[in-house]
Amino acid sequence: DTARGAFANHAWTADPLVADQTPDGAVHPVLNPARPDDHVGQVTWAGPETVAQAVEAASPWNAPAVVRAAVLTHAAHLYEENFGELFALLHREAGKSVMDAIAELREAVDFLRYYAARATDAPALGRFACISPWNFPLAIFTGQIAAALAAGNAVLAKPAEQTPLIAVRAAELMIEAGVPPTALQILPGDGVTGAALTSNPAIDGVAFTGSTETAQIIHKTMATHLNPGAPLIAETGGLNAMVVDSTALPEQAVQAIIESAFQSAGQRCSALRCLYVQEDIADGFIDMLKGAMDCLQIGDPWQTHCDVGPVIDEEARAGIQDYIDEAMAKGRVLHALPCPDNGHFVAPTLIKVNSIADLGKEVFGPALHVATFKSEELDAVIDAINGTGYGLTFGLQTRIDDRVQYVADRIEAGNIYVNRNQIGAIVGSQPFGGEGLSGTGPKAGGPLYLDRFRSHPVDQ
Ligand code: ADP
Repeated sequence: DTARGAFANHAWTADPLVADQTPDGAVHPVLNPARPDDHVGQVTWAGPETVAQAVEAASPWNAPAVVRAAVLTHAAHLYEENFGELFALLHREAGKSVMDAIAELREAVDFLRYYAARATDAPALGRFACISPWNFPLAIFTGQIAAALAAGNAVLAKPAEQTPLIAVRAAELMIEAGVPPTALQILPGDGVTGAALTSNPAIDGVAFTGSTETAQIIHKTMATHLNPGAPLIAETGGLNAMVVDSTALPEQAVQAIIESAFQSAGQRCSALRCLYVQEDIADGFIDMLKGAMDCLQIGDPWQTHCDVGPVIDEEARAGIQDYIDEAMAKGRVLHALPCPDNGHFVAPTLIKVNSIADLGKEVFGPALHVATFKSEELDAVIDAINGTGYGLTFGLQTRIDDRVQYVADRIEAGNIYVNRNQIGAIVGSQPFGGEGLSGTGPKAGGPLYLDRFRSHPVDQ
């Protein structure tokens, strides 16, 4: 078991089992989403008083850029040296499969190196709140912090309530690498902790990744500050579509769909939610897709052959399952798989819809919707996709070159994937981020991102 408190005011708030050392927060267990009997550890949440003290104690990291760059690069080494431990935490705390955990560790290391290389002596903004989600509890957490630190800010980071242990361990490694404790405070907790942080007028900026609704709340909270210039960098949800036309290579398209919709149990903001298949190939294509779904291995992500692991917690499982049960009652479920009943599992499910407009809200799990379209309806499909107001990822499967340009010119999405799965980003060369309800930009892992953490843009 790992038991940790907040890292605030230059020190860990000590062992959370010693109650009188943590007067402001309650101790919360951290559970394994795949194995409910596996108690991973516990953490003390930072209450409003701890948050206020941490904000006051935080001071920007005004070491020269070369020093900050060296320290962040050292942190990247320490992540690599502690690969096994971080890997095990990603697996046990977040339910990550072997491949997902490895990819996430690599991305976190890439973020540290990328922002380290771009540290500058330009003035920082001051104190930055970094609020991160549970679905990439190491990569997103690290990316936000590395950017804020590379720009010379003090960071007050609040990891998601489901995944605090990996965040705490990562922060320890950053401090071991040489980040001054005054410049990095870790505040485990839920929305109450987050709200205490974002409503504090001494906060000079917020980097947030999570739901669109929470970003909207934070935006309103920040509007009540006496600090009107503080930026909100928000990376939020999506209602992502893929269009498969009748010239697409079916094997390639099916493989891409399976990975895009069901990898990480659909718990990626980039995940495919609504597939449009051209009507004249739809029957055969959907049969092929069902066959590929039947080959998916659902279960404990510790098994290397696992394709689909658990969803993050019981609340998530129940919500997604209710949604699927409702679709089932309406006769809209085209295909569903059996899945383990011990642990927070949801079976990959295919649900028939007429249009992406039928989806309403993002369902953050392995539920894929499918609609068909006629050749002459392509513009209407593009309008429907843009009409959701989201704009994160979009996929296209076609062998018509002109169509790639035509669709890409009209689709409003931050990341467009052609003839491949709509997964992932490459720090530096393929930055990630959305438009509209999906985010404020600039894209993470791209050249403009760091500028938002500084008081002036810098030529690089
Ligand atoms: P998800 O649905 O992915 O859990 P959330 O938007 O609820 O997305 O959570 C993302 C992060 O935002 C988490 O760290 C969560 O604790 C935090 N959070 C939730 N509510 C608030 C709030 N009102 N203010 C600040 N942070 C919040």
